[in-house]
Amino acid sequence: MSIKSKNKQGGQMVQAYCVKCKQTVEMKDGKETKTVRGTRMMKGKCPKCGITVCRMMGKK
Ligand SMILES: [Zn+2]
Repeated sequence: MSIKSKNKQGGQMVQAYCVKCKQTVEMKDGKETKTVRGTRMMKGKCPKCGITVCRMMGKK
């Protein structure tokens, strides 16, 4: 069992670079997470090929 359909929070589209498609894509199932350094980042999946993509959210 997994928490798959948790689509309520974070309905925003976040763009991330997919290394497989070699282009910027709109992240699917994006979730905010933190690195060991405490930097915020979004982690999700590429809607086209399904690999994990992530994006740093730290500073603008
Ligand atoms: Zn991709």
